[in-house]
Amino acid sequence: MMAAAAAAENGAKVTLLEKKEQVGKKLKLTGKGRCNITSALEGANFISGYAGNGRFLYSALNQFSNQDLVNFFNKRGLATVTERGQRVFPASGRAEDVVQILPEHAK
Ligand SMILES: Cc1cc2nc3c(=O)[nH]c(=O)nc-3n(C[C@H](O)[C@H](O)[C@H](O)COP(=O)(O)OP(=O)(O)OC[C@H]3O[C@@H](n4cnc5c(N)ncnc54)[C@H](O)[C@@H]3O)c2cc1C
Repeated sequence: MMAAAAAAENGAKVTLLEKKEQVGKKLKLTGKGRCNITSALEGANFISGYAGNGRFLYSALNQFSNQDLVNFFNKRGLATVTERGQRVFPASGRAEDVVQILPEHAK
């Protein structure tokens, strides 16, 4: 959904296909129903959380970082909290609140 929206913002005509009755259904189950959105660790510490060599991610994360993701949700009315281990969750504790922002953004 994020990729579809980014493509559309850059002028592409986008069709998003989903085989389930609803997009983002799986995300509602993530983080035990709370959705661990990202990590608040910065730079190399963030990259070190990836298995193997995450160095290839530097250029992508320079374009859109973990902080950009948190800002993306905050701007759309989703308050977030950072918990133990720098894990970022919706303040509501409901993955559903994260998921409902994405189809709106994609539309
Ligand atoms: C139990 C669990 C908990 C998790 N918790 C977290 C967490 O807290 N934080 C985190 O960052 N990650 C978490 N993850 C990992 C996260 O869910 C995945 O990394 C992420 O969903 C991958 O996104 P994706 O878009 O690549 O694939 P998906 O989210 O799997 O999306 C693929 C979509 O394509 C659809 N689809 C599949 N085949 C077709 C087809 N032929 N035609 C049309 N549509 C199709 C599917 O229905 C699905 O909606 C968790 C994963 C699991 C299983």
